Amino acid sequence: MKCSQGEKFSKGELQRFGNIELSPSAGVLNYGQGLFEGLKAYRKKDGKILLFRPEENALRLRMGAERMCMPSPTVEQFVEAVKLSVVANEKWIPPPGKGSLYIRPLLMGSGAVLGLAPAPEYTFLIFVSPVGNYFREGLAPINLIVETEMHRATPGGTGGVKTIGNYAAVLKAQSAAKAKGYSDVLYLDSVHKKYLEEVSSCNVFVVKGNLISTPAIQGTILPGITRKSILDVACSQGFQVEERLVTVDELLDADEVFCTGTAVVVSPVGSITYLNKRVSYGREGVGRVSQQLYTALTSLQMGIAEDKMGWIMEIN
Ligand code: PMP
Repeated sequence: MKCSQGEKFSKGELQRFGNIELSPSAGVLNYGQGLFEGLKAYRKKDGKILLFRPEENALRLRMGAERMCMPSPTVEQFVEAVKLSVVANEKWIPPPGKGSLYIRPLLMGSGAVLGLAPAPEYTFLIFVSPVGNYFREGLAPINLIVETEMHRATPGGTGGVKTIGNYAAVLKAQSAAKAKGYSDVLYLDSVHKKYLEEVSSCNVFVVKGNLISTPAIQGTILPGITRKSILDVACSQGFQVEERLVTVDELLDADEVFCTGTAVVVSPVGSITYLNKRVSYGREGVGRVSQQLYTALTSLQMGIAEDKMGWIMEIN
């Protein structure tokens, strides 16, 4: 779908996957006007195709578009386009239990612009790809390093929206961490340098007894849809949940730590390294709470558990 600045998106169409043409002076290439989303379609045992809270992705894209001076599709247009893309690619959806179809909506300033300004034209497109289950043989713990020099976001910046530049900003720290054998990087706030923010592409939770805490959304971390869902699931399972400032000291003193995101769902953290100090969690690194919440959420997403929250959209 395309639209000009100040106008509304009109109905889109299906196209075969392939390269797209862009002007060298497209807004997205020069001034980073790009946003994306990520969601998954699962196939249920009875053949039905399930989406998990796609309206939330639409709303997050719209919030991001506002910050990035871009027009955006309506929630209805977004959800319709997702459905159309998934149904057209139905044959690529893995069988139940074998993975999902990853859906990547993209919104970009595709119009040409030379002086710094919002692009005059925008393109919204979706591509899809089958993906396996993140954990093939049960949950596997990840090992994180706390980054003390680089930050992914600053107050007043764009860390709270899913814009492409945020991901460019984390590549250096993430590559260095991976080269040292860590799974990923955990970022701290850029002002006090002691409050947890998030990992490169997932949110973080700290468990202490029956209390589950996660950094509050204050403009520098992405409001994850899995994060929001896990807060509700954990609450419904009798845990006490809190969104607040969480310090790195609390992280090191936690019973369990886990991350959440569309790709990882719920990912237990086996160890954290901070200033050369390494703290391990649990004997196998997979805590009881992480395991319980992972099972609860994946059962919902795959249509195994009853959808009491009304989060699942059947599309065929
Ligand atoms: N933080 C960042 C920076 C991310 O890229 C993602 C993945 N979208 C998340 C958190 C988790 O968000 P969600 O649960 O909506 O996938």
